Amino acid sequence: MTDQLKKYLFENRSVRVQAVRLSDTWRDALAHHAYTPVVRRLLGELVAASTLLAANIKFDGSLLLQIQGDGPISLVVVECRSDLSLRATVKVREGQTVPEDGTLQSLLNVHGAGRFTVLLDPKRKTPGHQTYQGIVPLEGETVAQALEHYMKSSEQLDTRLWLAADDQQAAGLLVQRLPDHGGQPGEAPDEAWNRATHLASTLGAGELLSVDTDTLIHRLYWEETLLAFDPMDVRWHCPCGRERVAEMLRMLGRDEVDSILAEQGHVEVLCDFCGKPYLFDAVDCASLFAADAPIPGSQHPPTVH
Ligand SMILES: [Zn+2]
Repeated sequence: MTDQLKKYLFENRSVRVQAVRLSDTWRDALAHHAYTPVVRRLLGELVAASTLLAANIKFDGSLLLQIQGDGPISLVVVECRSDLSLRATVKVREGQTVPEDGTLQSLLNVHGAGRFTVLLDPKRKTPGHQTYQGIVPLEGETVAQALEHYMKSSEQLDTRLWLAADDQQAAGLLVQRLPDHGGQPGEAPDEAWNRATHLASTLGAGELLSVDTDTLIHRLYWEETLLAFDPMDVRWHCPCGRERVAEMLRMLGRDEVDSILAEQGHVEVLCDFCGKPYLFDAVDCASLFAADAPIPGSQHPPTVH
């Protein structure tokens, strides 16, 4: 079973419901990292949120959620592309312990200098599709609360988010009031919205993580008529690779690579994003600087020993 995001509309088109539950994608995100539970939860919530927000972007490109923190966590970045492939990373500030009961505030905004941005980045820039950066006020104790404030103030959209993550799953539910839906005759404008959010109000992290999406949506909205859309696949994708790392080592130069080799016996490079290790032994390193290997970006010819 693949990781999927599912989209629904209330029959009168006044409320949008989206749910996502990630297993493989989330395990890939964690594969090369040893995050503590609280860091993992924060990252997983942002990962789930990024898919829920990216599922509605109307261009080919990326949505980036980035928090530059002033507390024990210095940076969290999630990039989700419009095809719902994503990558994500966290940087913990050196020498700092991350409190296991940490919140959005105590992890990232201790001195009020944290910065949460949403970046919409179309692949092809045209007059109607430029890079857009929005500032998310770091309000509330959770990622969900901060993003709810943001959607209301910047997009004028009433939005409720439920987000959760553990070591196996990251999951989320988005309920959003759509503007100008026309409404149902005889129904007050807020009625469907109030029902939609009330029904989900008791949803907890445990249920969100343990129940599959179809069951969850049925439990919450079995009395409603929902229009269901084709599910969208979500997957992990980090564009790093051995060739890119090789290129980087060539740019670093033979002297530098040789000195690392002399010190360590090999050269190990970790992808800054996914943490995947790339190992180059002495023979690999020698072949990097073989006569026919291109030296991208280098101003000087390599020294021949
Ligand atoms: Zn990578």
